[in-house]
Amino acid sequence: MKTALFGGTFDPVHNGHIAIASATIAQCGLDRVRFIPCFESPHKSGVQSAEGRHRLEMLKLATAGFPWAEVSNWELQRKAPSYSWQTAQHFADEDTDLYWILGADQWVALEQWAKPEILADLLHFIVFPRDGIPLMPKPGFRATFLDTSHPASATAIRKLSGNSEHLASSVREYIAAHHLYA
Ligand code: ATP
Repeated sequence: MKTALFGGTFDPVHNGHIAIASATIAQCGLDRVRFIPCFESPHKSGVQSAEGRHRLEMLKLATAGFPWAEVSNWELQRKAPSYSWQTAQHFADEDTDLYWILGADQWVALEQWAKPEILADLLHFIVFPRDGIPLMPKPGFRATFLDTSHPASATAIRKLSGNSEHLASSVREYIAAHHLYA
């Protein structure tokens, strides 16, 4: 199985996430994308964010129509922040070819991720443009650069209390029903 891991806060999942995951499937010949919402500290103050169970549920709603999409609660059920290298190691046991999807904002910060040497060993990165950030290969890392771009931002969506055209209607309804980001 050729699998891409897609880690993030997904607070909430939006059409940009779905667009880049779909592009990965269409253009890289992969079999599936595993969306992995991260655990977030309940002590983070002053930040408008949704609990893990809500972020997980919204991911399930947004990916319901895509047979290649899976949603994993692996990081959430550990109940403490996970490093990406730990997540990659966990799933590397199951999948022979392992990829990792990220936006340009994360790619340029990759050296600050813990244990980059393990990441470089286990993962082939699939990188998407964002906010005009210049993209360049990094020595030692395997990467494919795709040109699908999407303007959605979870921060902007939270500021709009979830009233955004960049959300699946099922997700928008979920946000309203549970008064998230109000
Ligand atoms: P925010 O807008 O608040 O920064 P986010 O959507 O970037 O939120 P995450 O949910 O953690 O935050 O994103 C998960 C991954 O998806 C990250 O690698 C991020 O770079 C990527 N991503 C999110 N939105 C886009 C987008 N519109 N275009 C390209 N990559 C994106």
